[in-house]
Order: sequence, then structure tokens, then C-alpha cells
Amino acid sequence: MKEMIYQTVCPGCNIGCGLYIRESEEGALVVDFMKSSSANLGKLCRFGMKLPHYYSKATNVVDGKEADIKTAVKAASDKLKGAKNVAMLAVGATTNEEHLAFTKIADALGTVVNTGIGAYEEIPSECHPSISQGIPLDDIEKAGRIALFIDPYVQYPLLVRRLLAAKKNGATIVSVGCRDLNLADENLSINPADYKTELGLDSNSIIIADVHPHTDPEQVKNLLNLSLMTGAKIIFMKPFVDSTGVHLFGKGVGQKGLQEIMDGINDGSIKTLVTLNSDLLELMPNTDEAAKTLEKLDNLVVITSRDSPVNKLANIVIATESLYAKAGSFMNVEGQVLNNSGESTVGIDAMSILSKNLGGEAFDFHAIHDKMMKSVVQKFTAPKYSKLECKVMETAAPAENGGNLISVYNPFMWCDQPDDNDFVIVNMKMVDKLGLQKGSMIALTSDAGSVNVRYTVRDIPDGLILTMKKLPVVTGNSTVVKAEAV
Ligand code: SF4
Repeated sequence: MKEMIYQTVCPGCNIGCGLYIRESEEGALVVDFMKSSSANLGKLCRFGMKLPHYYSKATNVVDGKEADIKTAVKAASDKLKGAKNVAMLAVGATTNEEHLAFTKIADALGTVVNTGIGAYEEIPSECHPSISQGIPLDDIEKAGRIALFIDPYVQYPLLVRRLLAAKKNGATIVSVGCRDLNLADENLSINPADYKTELGLDSNSIIIADVHPHTDPEQVKNLLNLSLMTGAKIIFMKPFVDSTGVHLFGKGVGQKGLQEIMDGINDGSIKTLVTLNSDLLELMPNTDEAAKTLEKLDNLVVITSRDSPVNKLANIVIATESLYAKAGSFMNVEGQVLNNSGESTVGIDAMSILSKNLGGEAFDFHAIHDKMMKSVVQKFTAPKYSKLECKVMETAAPAENGGNLISVYNPFMWCDQPDDNDFVIVNMKMVDKLGLQKGSMIALTSDAGSVNVRYTVRDIPDGLILTMKKLPVVTGNSTVVKAEAV
């Protein structure tokens, strides 16, 4: 039986774990380990192991009917020609080359590509490169002290082995968050005003945090300040495989956040939306609400390699090849350029025709790749830490919406993928208070609806419920819910 083997990178987060995908003649996919990948040495987390679920194939669609790609590109050209109030979104869930091709379409339309992480807009541009590209991952293993503002087990699992190696080398780890982490020497729940005095950081320390489409910019500023005041290095993890590449490409342009885009659609200032491998139904906390917003658009043009929920709402879907089969590259959090072995250029070629039809530049993969290498890679690549250029900033207290159900964003949640760990976390006090019996479930009710969920018990602050799965009751980073035993 004939089989294709692709060397590629896991799209679950921007650690950039390398792996092989074996594709049979019938299209069945198997994940295989790539021991030579320096980011993960062949290891993968649960999301990486379940990638065949993620790689569902998209279909070209024009106004609800299946079409071929030529027809879909032509229909998109007709819809976009002369379109006003256009917004474009690409969060970084595809190759550098496709992202650059997408910016050519934006040029032709006289607009920019937004990357969906609104926190960038609030932070001085001289800090952006340090937010985009972090430290070499190997440096984590050499740190004296590490302050964690993420839950690595759930959010960025392949960091765990770096942290354990750091501990073996003598590092101490302090975690600031909702859940006590086994690998931390200290678990603290403290306010930003106390970070400097309580965390014991110095120039031999590393701060590990993250920034994503729903991050509070005030918290990013607090952490940059902490780095500036203590001399500790800082690394911001991100949820998409090319998050680093797209932000370095953007150079401060197109930092509109997802919520800002949704607000623009709701107030009528955005009438046409063009997306590249970015499904707002998956990315926004509440899918139903997001669907109601997207239905207000005059035109929704989706360019994607996946069969994801937004395709059903789109006027036009331009279906590209699966991510693992694309010719192209990604840039991971430490600034390493990671190449796919795939040679397919279906997506780039479709975007070239679209760009040309809109009066812009035509291009091919090689031209785009060369440009990408010159403009970004040669400037930023090779893992190295760029010292923070910004000054200590004024900050306000992080916005609180006072909810008791907290979303812990992770690869399964960003892509709304099925996961066996589909339970919420509560503490023993809540089990007693609700009268939960072994095997019973919790009914959660919010303004958005209700759902019954399984639970597990951990040591977390009183009154909180943590979810690692996208629940239909969720309305934001935290949601007010009523909990009852069922
Ligand atoms: S989700 Fe992140 S940590 Fe897990 S395999 Fe993919 S890149 Fe690695």
C-alpha cells in the first residue's frame, strides 16, 4: 500500500513540536514521533497525539453549494471587488508563507491582516518583539528560579519536561495561579502589586507567561514591568503554531483583537470578513453568540485547510490542503524556523489568483518564501533573547468580571476539539456544599444556558470551578454560573 510521510509541526501551540504524519492512499492519518525535533525530542502531548481529528479536510463552497476551487476563488474575487468595510483575520494557524500571501490580498483591498491578539495594541511597540519571540527553550533548563503564570500541564504540555529538567539542575519554581502545581516549590495566589516583593526573582530567573486573544493587556504590562524591575527574562507562550511569525510580520500593524472585530461586525463598521485558518466560532468563548454576530455580515469569505464549524456560515469557502501537506514554514516561540516537508501550494496559488483578480500582485510559493526569509527570518531567527526595550509602564488592576467558572485556555479549547479530560475542577469544599456523590455530575447554569458536566477534585481556591473544555455556558474568561448537583 502506498503511503505518504510528511515531516511537519504540531499546530496546537507555538512550542512547535515536530512530528511525522503518515497518510495512506485512502487518506487515513497516523501520527509518528520525530526524535530529531529539538523543540520536543520526539515527544507529543495528548493534543499532538490526536492530530488526525484536527486535520479534517475542508470543501470548497459557494453560497451553500459545493464547488471547485477555481469557482470559489472567482466567487470570492467578485464579492471582494470594491467591497467596503472589510476586515481580515489570520491568527497564525498556518504557514509563514500563507500568512504573507494573505497580506498581499489585504494590500489589494487596502486593508491590513489582524492577528486577533488585541493586547498588542495596548502595549508600546518597542516591547512587541519581546512579546512575540521569547527565550531559547533550552535556557529554561538553566534558570535559577522560574515564575510560572501558566498551567504548563494543561496549556503548554511540552514545557513540563523543560521545567523538570530545570528542577533537576537546581532551579526553584514558583507558580502564580488558580491551581496548585505539583512541580512547583511554591504555589501562590497574589496580586500584581506583590509580584516584585513576593516572587524572589533576579537576573538568573525566567518568567513564563502567555498571551492569547483573550489576554488582559494590563496583566501583560504587569509582567513586562516585573521583568524590567527584576532583570528576569520573560517568555510569552502563545496558542497558534505561527503566532511568533505573524506578529513579527505584522510589525505592529493589524493588532485588532477578536472582540474588537466582533464589536465592529455588531456595530456595522465591518460588513465583510475574510479569514485565513481562523474560526471565530472556535476562538470566541461563546459559540452561539459568535454565530449570531457572524450572521450579520454581508460577506464571510473563509480560506481554510480544515472542515471547522465556521465553514457552514461562510458565503464562500476556499479549501486549501491540510496543514501538514503545505510547502512552507512556521516560527516557534523561541524564533526557530521549522519547515514542512510538504510541497503542496494549493493555498498560495489560490491566494495569488485572488490577489491578482483584486488588482494586486500575483506571486508563487518561491517568491513568497524568499521574501519571508529576507524580511523576517534573517532579522529575527536563531534563538536569542532580545532585551526588553520598553520602560516600566503605568498599569491598572487587571479587569475582573467576577465569574466563578474560569476558562483555562489550552489547545483542545482553541480548536474546540473532543478531549477525554472533559471534566471541570472543583475543591472538596464545593463537593460538600453541593452534596456531590461519587459518579454524580454538576449542572452549571449561566445567562448563556446550562450544561451537565463531570468533575474532579483538586486543591483550588474556594468557590472556583475550572474548565479546560469549551462549555456552552461560558461567556468570557470567567463566567458567573450557578452550580448544582445532578
Ligand atoms: S499542543 Fe503544543 S505541546 Fe502539545 S504537541 Fe502540540 S506543539 Fe507540542
